[in-house]
Amino acid sequence: MNKRVVILGAGESGVGAALLAQKQGFDVFVSDMSVVKNTFKEELESHQINYEENQHSQEKIFNADVVVKSPGIPDTVALIVGLRDKGIEVISEIEFAARFTDAKFVCITGSNGKTTTSLLTYHVLKSAGVNVGLAGNIGQSLARQVALDSPKEWYVLELSSFQLDGMYQFKADIAVLMNITPDHLDRYDYKMQNYIDSKFRILQNQTEDDYFIYCLDDENITRELAVRSIKAQQLPFSNDCEVSEGAFFQDNQIVFKLKEDAMSVFIEQLAIQGRHNQYNTMAAGIVTRLFQIRKPVIRESLLSFKGVEHRLERVLSVRGMEFINDSKATNVNSSWYALESMKTKVIWIAGGVDKGNDYSEIKHLAASKVKALVCLGKDNQKLVDSFSGIVPTIVECASMQEAVKSAYYLGDKGDSVLLSPACASFDLFDNYEQRGRLFKECVRNL
Ligand code: ADP
Repeated sequence: MNKRVVILGAGESGVGAALLAQKQGFDVFVSDMSVVKNTFKEELESHQINYEENQHSQEKIFNADVVVKSPGIPDTVALIVGLRDKGIEVISEIEFAARFTDAKFVCITGSNGKTTTSLLTYHVLKSAGVNVGLAGNIGQSLARQVALDSPKEWYVLELSSFQLDGMYQFKADIAVLMNITPDHLDRYDYKMQNYIDSKFRILQNQTEDDYFIYCLDDENITRELAVRSIKAQQLPFSNDCEVSEGAFFQDNQIVFKLKEDAMSVFIEQLAIQGRHNQYNTMAAGIVTRLFQIRKPVIRESLLSFKGVEHRLERVLSVRGMEFINDSKATNVNSSWYALESMKTKVIWIAGGVDKGNDYSEIKHLAASKVKALVCLGKDNQKLVDSFSGIVPTIVECASMQEAVKSAYYLGDKGDSVLLSPACASFDLFDNYEQRGRLFKECVRNL
């Protein structure tokens, strides 16, 4: 009898895993606790893959040989605990997909900058003609690509800690760790060390032939490195100090150095600006230098990359005020970088679902740059309490239209209006993309 794969969660990664499992000859069943999107339903039906929605039928799940779990389902729910107690393997879609391809992997994780760095790395590699795909948290799932595509030699994978938690035998040929700052602590027992351990899973199974690229300025990373033994070849990047191999900042340039062979780019020539994007450029640049790519090609592609929607995206200038959409900033640290990169006074639109935020690290910046704080959430109490006495004006709004209008009236010529919420979006919006699109629409309607 065929082995049975049960897939929990019928989103992009679950449906991709189902297609791959079917192609590999498994008996496949997909189960989702919510309503399955129509496009995914049609796809499952056209492939005659059995599925259910709005429920998890125990009798159809506990007979699995392997369970592929969506990253959105916490390890602590009774179903997952029960499966593991019974000795049933529960893995992530990436772990599953990687078992059926010989491709090599560049894996990018961190609390912030994953998508930007992944897209930038992919952009440079693709421009240079490398046979490369892009997957993970972005676009089409790895499993779908392994099932349907002509195989790629390399994949750039954006990996969240939730995906890493379901990875065991997987190995990154090149691992990139951007930073570790508090995020998603609700899924980690509110213990920072658990979250750090999760991020460090990106190094598991690496050998001396592999590479580990990381931010040397991040204390959570360096503290952890001091107590671990790392097999891979280390290539750090830093804004603060020179490194013998890796990337660093010098005379307004980023220098990339590998075995005494250096190249550099001027930061003012980069299309993506801000200190955080210097880090993202350093990481992507080091990765691409490990490939046999001519330096002018790397330089040109690093400079021509235009950035990603909802990440410090310039929308419009209205009455001399610049409106900036940073809806993807869903934690305090990413909003810190957004505020830090602002060269003008700021009307800051923030708020939403708090994930255990600590605003103390951002107060200093807010005091020097923020003229007015527009709170946009169902419950704004923590924001109001945190910034009272620090920001001169604080208003509360219950809709994006209201927030954009308030910001417009509170600002003056030469100011910037920054949507950088530091919170998740689920109280008032479907997701951060919808929040960002609505912001842009309201700005255009001003
Ligand atoms: P992720 O995929 O990790 O969420 P993104 O590239 O989508 O990261 O960026 C999300 C937000 O984080 C951006 O809006 C930006 O404000 C901020 N950001 C981007 N890169 C970095 C970085 N290297 N360090 C800190 N913040 C960053």
